[in-house]
Amino acid sequence: MKICCCIKQVPGTTEVKINPETNTLVREGVETQINPFDLYALEEAVRTKERMTAAGDPSTVTVITMGPPQAEDALREAISLGADDSILLSDRAFAGSDTWCTSYVLAMALTKIQPDLAFCGMQAIDGDTGQVGPGIAIHMSQAQVAYVAEIKEIDSKKATVKRLIEDGYEVCEIKLPAVMTVVKEINEPRTPSLRGKMAAKKAEITKWGAADIDAPAEKCGLMGSPTQVVRIMTPPCRGGGDTYEGEGPELADKLYDVLKSMEVV
Ligand SMILES: Cc1cc2nc3c(=O)[nH]c(=O)nc-3n(C[C@H](O)[C@H](O)[C@H](O)COP(=O)(O)OP(=O)(O)OC[C@H]3O[C@@H](n4cnc5c(N)ncnc54)[C@H](O)[C@@H]3O)c2cc1C
Repeated sequence: MKICCCIKQVPGTTEVKINPETNTLVREGVETQINPFDLYALEEAVRTKERMTAAGDPSTVTVITMGPPQAEDALREAISLGADDSILLSDRAFAGSDTWCTSYVLAMALTKIQPDLAFCGMQAIDGDTGQVGPGIAIHMSQAQVAYVAEIKEIDSKKATVKRLIEDGYEVCEIKLPAVMTVVKEINEPRTPSLRGKMAAKKAEITKWGAADIDAPAEKCGLMGSPTQVVRIMTPPCRGGGDTYEGEGPELADKLYDVLKSMEVV
């Protein structure tokens, strides 16, 4: 089985700065990490490879990221964690992509690879939309299942999965090829082995630009993005507020009166 996993390199800090002129993240000098949800997606991809290989279907995991050249670090880390090979989608034409466009570029790369199963994290901790996984499936006209918490059964044609929903779980069967996004409950990601670290050091990272995936420039980056960031700002701190002093029960009564006057209780 051919398995892919999409990972995103995100800032390793919450102290993210925005360039007020371009409305984009200032990435220079910011420490980075693999999006935490993607570590679960990668672990599940590697476990699925091991499971399928043990069942007599030799399988591989290819990890993909769209990002700047330094996103190569994330790919090497993914190899240390069990991926077999990796692709960096990097091109000036991809700059400024919104989620629609990010999904499109990833979908074009996946179309070239033709995996049986593509994993994504449930969401990225910086963009936070959760749109890219389902977006990829839409662009590829493939089946998709989001918030997967367990792969119960899988063969080369279908998978039965348990997915998280608001008030419980849902078990569903999905035809392959498909895209799955996973939640943290699905597994416990492994730590890199010494062998993995050596493989990561030596790994050749495949680099693809827009031309390699047949993605026309007008469908990529700012040009291909139906949404544009007009302004990004930090909301001003709320000023004012009232301070009440006194003992617990007295303060509780006071608070109740205040909330009542505001018609909150
Ligand atoms: C209008 C607009 C303009 C933007 N302009 C810029 C910009 O100029 N510069 C900029 O840096 N960002 C920009 N962004 C942010 C960028 O589009 C998003 O970060 C990106 O599309 C991914 O969305 P997300 O972070 O919400 O991911 P989610 O949808 O929350 O991610 C879900 C999963 O998809 C996969 N995934 C997501 N992104 C990638 C990726 N790049 N590679 C591989 N897998 C991935 C991962 O598995 C991840 O767990 C812009 C966003 C918008 C809405």
